Amino acid sequence: MKVAPSQREMYVIRHSQRAWIAYAPLHSRLLLIESTAGNQILSGEMAALEDSLRQVLTNELDSRVRMSREAEATNAESFIPRTLAISLSLNCNLRCVYCHASAAPKELDTLTNWDTIQVAIDYFLNFPHHQEHGIVSLSFAGGGEPTLEWQLLTQATRYFKEQASVRGLEAEVTMATNGTMTKEQTDFVIREFRGVSLSIDGDEEIHNSHRPAVGFNSFEATMRTAKQLSQEQFPFGVHAVVSAQSVERMPGIVDFFVDELPGLAGIGFEPVVPLGRAEGTVLQPSLSRFTDLWLEARRRGLQRGVRVFYSGGCQIDSIRPLFCSAVMGPDITITWDGHVSSCTRDNPDAHFRVGIVDAIKGEVRIDMTAVKRLKTEIIERREKCTRCFAVYHCGGECADLIYRTSVDRCRHTRRIVYAQLCEFLGIKPARFAPRATRVLLKEIP
Ligand code: SF4
Ligand code: SF4
Repeated sequence: MKVAPSQREMYVIRHSQRAWIAYAPLHSRLLLIESTAGNQILSGEMAALEDSLRQVLTNELDSRVRMSREAEATNAESFIPRTLAISLSLNCNLRCVYCHASAAPKELDTLTNWDTIQVAIDYFLNFPHHQEHGIVSLSFAGGGEPTLEWQLLTQATRYFKEQASVRGLEAEVTMATNGTMTKEQTDFVIREFRGVSLSIDGDEEIHNSHRPAVGFNSFEATMRTAKQLSQEQFPFGVHAVVSAQSVERMPGIVDFFVDELPGLAGIGFEPVVPLGRAEGTVLQPSLSRFTDLWLEARRRGLQRGVRVFYSGGCQIDSIRPLFCSAVMGPDITITWDGHVSSCTRDNPDAHFRVGIVDAIKGEVRIDMTAVKRLKTEIIERREKCTRCFAVYHCGGECADLIYRTSVDRCRHTRRIVYAQLCEFLGIKPARFAPRATRVLLKEIP
């Protein structure tokens, strides 16, 4: 089973009573049309499309949007991991109020050991497909705070780079961190890593209320690292979690980061997800409000020269055949207890397990039935999205969010895509994304 994109698809969106939008994502075609032309297109009249194309095709779109004409066909039978992620432990020196992994200071004696890491690195690097790309990626992610296991982190970094080099491969190392590092640790990161995602939720008041520490000021510790990275022009991005308390301040948070951290590569906002410590709390912001403010923060970022992201914040300048490339690889995430997961979420659910690292036998065992089951689930869900005009930018939503929560982001996702289409056309979007119809044309010129 594969995802099969159609080159003949066009979505007709009823923007207002008279003005409709025709959109063919795989052709970068975006038109503002009269409703009469829209009705003709819906009944398959090619002539109407030709006329409309000549009249309203936006040249700007063609030059600004770089869309892949061939959405990658993804096969449920394959196992092609592109990245290796390692979760070093579930320990953390902060106690973030919404932590998915419920990580905590030394409450849990859970730690990946060196033998497991070494077996996993060797297994990953030996895949022949890496030779085609020439680059291999390791990230420390998916559990507690990786820098607390400093000895393992440095050993794994050096071993990964050395073993990649032996195989003629270029190695990239990254991590997601709370940034409470010493200057010497940050020096190591600057020397050895390609990039870092730093968790900072905003100014001191917001950050410390979300990410409290016992015995030190977590904002000060993280900002010290952020400033060192910024001063040394190291490529790093900021990951800011947005709660019901901070949602109204998102555009101001963009200003704060741009003012404080020159050269920042990007800002990612994520609303609190009701998992781990956030489950059953009122920390999650209203998704409508989050979407309003994210769109505003995105505009503010464009004005201030920094890109603003969000996992559901589809960018219409890129095609996403499936929401999650991690689960589709599937990529390999080694969890703190030695399992192989295809989901990189902190402390991923057992539903996403596809194997185990056997450090005693020195092997990784992958359950191909589990791989196929997961990939098939995702492809089948993507097929249900075919009628949605956001599908080539959304790709069918996060598998973990669907599996573990009742969060439904579809109407917000569609609004984000619709707002960007209106932006290209220079028209004001309606409050909610309007209805759309998918039509399969004979061909799209
Ligand atoms: S399933 Fe969701 S949480 Fe897991 S790796 Fe994919 S996008 Fe991330
Ligand atoms: S917005 Fe919803 S319906 Fe549309 S592609 Fe995404 S998951 Fe599917």
